[in-house]
Amino acid sequence: MLLTPHARTPRRLKAAALLASAVSVCLVAASAPAAPLGVGDRLFPHLGNPGYDVASYDLSFTYPGSNSEPLQAVTTIDAWTTTPLDRINLDFAHGKVESVEVDGEPASFAAADEDLVVTPEEALPSGSWMRITVKHTSDPVSAEDRDGGWVRTTDGLAMANQADAAHLVFPCNDHPSDKAMFTIRVTAPDGYTAVANGLPTGVDRAAGATTWTYRTQHPMATELAQVSIGRSTVLHREGPHGLPVRDVVPTKHRTALEPWLEKTPDQISWMESKVGRYPFETYGLLMADADTGFELETQTLSLFERELFTEPAYPQWYVESIMVHELAHQWFGDSVAPAAWSDLWLNEGHATWYEALYAEEKAGKSMAARMKAAYGASDRWRAAGGPPAAPKAPDPGQKIGIFRPNVYDGAALALYALREEIGRETFERLERVWVSRHEDGTATTDDFVRLASELSGRDLGDFFHDWLYGEKTPPMPGHPEWKSVTAGR
Ligand SMILES: [Zn+2]
Repeated sequence: MLLTPHARTPRRLKAAALLASAVSVCLVAASAPAAPLGVGDRLFPHLGNPGYDVASYDLSFTYPGSNSEPLQAVTTIDAWTTTPLDRINLDFAHGKVESVEVDGEPASFAAADEDLVVTPEEALPSGSWMRITVKHTSDPVSAEDRDGGWVRTTDGLAMANQADAAHLVFPCNDHPSDKAMFTIRVTAPDGYTAVANGLPTGVDRAAGATTWTYRTQHPMATELAQVSIGRSTVLHREGPHGLPVRDVVPTKHRTALEPWLEKTPDQISWMESKVGRYPFETYGLLMADADTGFELETQTLSLFERELFTEPAYPQWYVESIMVHELAHQWFGDSVAPAAWSDLWLNEGHATWYEALYAEEKAGKSMAARMKAAYGASDRWRAAGGPPAAPKAPDPGQKIGIFRPNVYDGAALALYALREEIGRETFERLERVWVSRHEDGTATTDDFVRLASELSGRDLGDFFHDWLYGEKTPPMPGHPEWKSVTAGR
């Protein structure tokens, strides 16, 4: 994610009670009160659920042709249990649940905060394969109550689920540590075009409506799901070694956007020259006519505010570097996903790094100057948001609040220090080995520290401890003259 400079104040969360009541459920049977569970994420304790591992999601949405009415939806989840389960917790809020089945049999269900707690007829032993089918609505209107989920555009819908909002759209195990394959099916009235992550596998036209089906070829975190429904044109071009590049643009802005879109293949080649082969089956930009205030690296199809490209106030080098930021996330954040949200710096630090490196190589914007300025601000950023790898929890109602400067330029600064410390050659090798070793997986900050130590042949534990967890910014290797600039000066 990257906030655009004109970022709006994130919408305030309404009372928690309102959220809880936003999921309407029928309480069929309840032996003991259903309770929300989580996987113990330090920043989002109730995200994700223990006891199972999702293999695949099959999402079906029917768009009514209006952004003020809910979509009808069916979510089918195939998963393995990892412990015996008499209840299955899913994350879900902001939709009405009509029915739940487990392995084809009706199951009872109840809401508990932002969890949907499902009780199958019979308890499931550890190691069993289960299929959960939820018929529900997915409401773009109530998503206005808080950040993320469906984004209402002037001509339809898009999705922005990072960090904790996929479960505003569909029931899921909403934590990046549980990646899964996705099939996404969207039915929309004539005149609309639907696009989702991955590649198309079918288009079924019927009277008055069309159903598009897309499937991912790589596992994906729920926060990276994307569904675009709009009066859109889908543009196709070829990237390096035949990679299909696909952009989704509002038809009426197609001509104005083309000069930007045609830059993508060279940007992919540039990233490949830095870190190795592009990790997915396709890439492209989704240009949303919406007031998001940010860009988002949804897997294989990054979400951008259309205005970033048509507002003449943004310099060309800047817009291009933002395109590279989201592209770099396809390696850093998507293919290699964070094991927990405290590892967010691994996403944003690296995306900021390649954003800055591209600006340096292509537009002469000095990385050292940017990093020196970041050094000046770093102590303030740490005081406000915590050190890069131990960010402070989001303020209530501002969950987007973990996206602070400490994990952007503050974390890129730590990478700059690392490059100064271990040398350019080892650093560049580290970046390549990192994305290839953890491709299609999740990784922790400790994994990065270990790999850096392995490749540099020295224990970098203390170095990283100071840079990633220190309250104060350590001295910059090779630049003892860099100083923190205190506020007000
Ligand atoms: Zn980002």
